[in-house]
Amino acid sequence: MSEFIVDGLWKGPVVDQHIHLDRTNRYFSAIEDFVRVGGTGIMLVHKPDFRNLPIDLTTYNEVYTQTISMAQEVREKFSIDVGVVLGPHPVAWEHQIDSLGLEKSTELQISAVNLALEFIENGQAHCLGEVGRPHYPVSQDRWLVANQMLEEIMQSAAAAQTPIQLHVEDNGSQTYSELSAMAQKVGLPLSRTIRHYAPANVSPNFTHGLSCTVSVGSGSVAKIIETHSGSEVMWGMETDFLDDPRRPGAVLGPKTIPKRTNELCQLLLSENNESVVEELLLNIHSNWPRELYGIDF
Ligand SMILES: [Zn+2]
Repeated sequence: MSEFIVDGLWKGPVVDQHIHLDRTNRYFSAIEDFVRVGGTGIMLVHKPDFRNLPIDLTTYNEVYTQTISMAQEVREKFSIDVGVVLGPHPVAWEHQIDSLGLEKSTELQISAVNLALEFIENGQAHCLGEVGRPHYPVSQDRWLVANQMLEEIMQSAAAAQTPIQLHVEDNGSQTYSELSAMAQKVGLPLSRTIRHYAPANVSPNFTHGLSCTVSVGSGSVAKIIETHSGSEVMWGMETDFLDDPRRPGAVLGPKTIPKRTNELCQLLLSENNESVVEELLLNIHSNWPRELYGIDF
């Protein structure tokens, strides 16, 4: 018998490891949706305002502080577990090259990373991110600097012993292979190197040992079942909900993780006993995220 599976439904923890919220858009009502269908925890990822990006550290301090206070408000209102992911978005860096120049935009990113690490160090945030490199083609010199910068950021994360959520291009296993080599070069543990917006293939051959948060769109559950194996790779689920009025419901809506978790639960139950299914679902939504972010999900 399982404590958390009742009549074939999952009643245990359910964590969205990458979600954005916006005070000026759905904000609480998005979390209301999530909680109503079974959500119990989130990693709230700092949302950059691409129409009004910070150009100095004082402003980064203000916008990070906003994200931290939103996390606290959500905790108080919904009694769910909320971790905070802070960092400068790589697309912000790429956009700001046009206005600030390559050197200044890069300096700003690095100092914004260091500021995020201070918030993590003093316990107000739990993960560096989303940082990474542009997910679309850029000029050769920008790509070169993007990679040098990412290596430096990984090195800082390694020194601070913090996990890192990566926003990167989607070039399948090749992307993982490059990130894995970079992390190993600077001594960042692969398990704490988390690829966000990950494809549903969670096999260690594909992820090269990195952790990942799978974008659980339709069809993802079948692929997860096909590829998951034991606990060699720590993986989780994410919506990357943007809370953006211009893209409502993107990337995935706030109810998605509870829904996919139940889909996964039901498919697994058709071939496994309850305790095997419970163990996997507890790994996904409690043990692994606790190990990654130090939060008691
Ligand atoms: Zn995101």
